[in-house]
Parts: sequence; structure tokens; C-alpha cells
Amino acid sequence: MAKIFCVANQKGGVGKTTTTVNLAAGLAKIGQRVLLVDLDPQGNATMGSGIDKRSMALSVYDVLLGEATIAQAATLADPCGYRVLGANRELAGAEVELVEMERRERRLKEALVAVADDYDFVLIDCPPSLSMLTLNGLCSAHGVIVPMQCEYFALEGLADLVNTIKQVHGNLNRDLQIIGLLRVMFDPRITLQVQVSDQLKAKFGDKVFDTVIPRNVRLAEAPSYGLPGVVFDPSAKGSQAFLAFASEMVQRIKTM
Ligand code: ATP
Ligand code: MG
Repeated sequence: MAKIFCVANQKGGVGKTTTTVNLAAGLAKIGQRVLLVDLDPQGNATMGSGIDKRSMALSVYDVLLGEATIAQAATLADPCGYRVLGANRELAGAEVELVEMERRERRLKEALVAVADDYDFVLIDCPPSLSMLTLNGLCSAHGVIVPMQCEYFALEGLADLVNTIKQVHGNLNRDLQIIGLLRVMFDPRITLQVQVSDQLKAKFGDKVFDTVIPRNVRLAEAPSYGLPGVVFDPSAKGSQAFLAFASEMVQRIKTM
């Protein structure tokens, strides 16, 4: 049975998509069967996996509206070794269309049931909001991975996210838990980042992943080649960190 994880943080540009595509590629490299679900109308995880969001026949939009199954709509991201349920601008419309529907926050969860045995991991890239799309992600998941930069306001934003996760846990999804906080774009030369990192560990203890993702230009360059950094340049420091993170996740799910 697949373990399902949301990569979420309502703050924009914190590294959600970079984390999702590189964790997917890292897990695939160590033999895990992975489905990446792009829940962001920006379609960055889709493009970053080498799939053209403008020419997809079917996407996560069709799945949410009940017009296609995941098996029909997911495509193989060839050199990356995982499958992608892609997204594009059409998905922004789903937000409005879902309002009219029954069990609107459980559409993705119900669609995932049919493919649960086909994968070891399902990774959901959420948009930078606490919207109906993110809610669909949180309702589907066993856990949330929260990428964050070690900056002054990071802790403040975290409180909102933790509250939302608690509410979803209480009302919609008893399985949901924060799996961990992932420190990303980390630069140990910046004193403030080291301080915030220490605060995070003091406050959240083992909810902070051991792996730290450094700031690394190769990770930022990779999407323009339609590849995760882990595939584009496996030897880069950032890629090595994501490979370590993939191993850490495999260990973590053993204790879940
Ligand atoms: P959004 O909220 O818009 O969906 P996001 O949280 O998904 O954004 P990303 O798109 O993953 O964030 O990252 C934001 C930017 O930071 C991108 O240009 C990405 O290439 C860059 N970036 C992410 N992680 C790193 C890293 N470890 N080192 C260098 N650049 C990075
Ligand atoms: Mg993103």
C-alpha cells in the first residue's frame, strides 16, 4: 500500500516543488515506485519532470472532476523513473467547480484508492495557499512534509500551517500528521539561518528531518532542462542531499 505525502507550505517559493520532484527522483533511484501528483495550477512539478503541461491529454483536473482515473491520466516521466499526474492552468478552474460537488475535499483521496497497490510512495506538490486544492491533498495524505527556509518569518508562517493540519486532522483525516520539517536552501555561513535551524530543532525535536538541503545552483538550473536536479546532475551537493533525504524517508515510513 502506498504511503501518501503532501509537500505543503502556504508560503510561496520556499522549495515545495524542488523538494517534490527531487524526492520523487531520489526514491525512484533507490527502487521505490513513485507517483507524483501536481496539485498546483502553475504546473511547475509537471514541467520540472519533463512533461509539457500544455499538451497533456488528461491531468489531475480531469481526475478531480471524476472524468478520468489516475491510471488513465498519469504519465511516465521517462528519465526520472516515476509517474506524474500533471497539472496546468485548467486546474485553477477546479477550485470553483469543486464547490458545487459532493465530498469536494475528498475527490483526490477517493481517486487514489484505485492505485494504492501500484506505488510505494505518492508525493503531492501543493500550491502556495490553504485552498480547496491543498485541502484535497491534506485529506488524501498520511503525512505532510514541510520544506522551509531558516529565516526569521518562517516560524510565524509555520504556526498557521500547523493549525490547518490540526483542523484537518480533527475534522477530515485522522491519519494526518506532520512527518517532518525539511530545512532547504540552507547556507551554514549565514548566522541567522543557523540560529533559526537550532530554534526549529529545540521546538520540534525529531520532527525536524536530519537531512539538510543546501542552497545549490544546480537544483535551480535543473527545471529549465525539464529534469529534477537528482537526474540532471546527480553528483551536485543539492542532489546528494536529496538522495540522502530519500533514504531518510524510506527509514521513516518503517516506523509509521
Ligand atoms: P511556489 O510556492 O511558487 O509553488 P515552491 O515552494 O514550489 O514555489 P520552488 O519552485 O521549489 O518553490 O523553489 C523556488 C525557487 O527556488 C526556484 O527558482 C528554485 O529553483 C529555487 N530553489 C529551490 N530550492 C533550491 C536550493 N536548494 N538551492 C537553490 N535554489 C533553490
Ligand atoms: Mg511550487
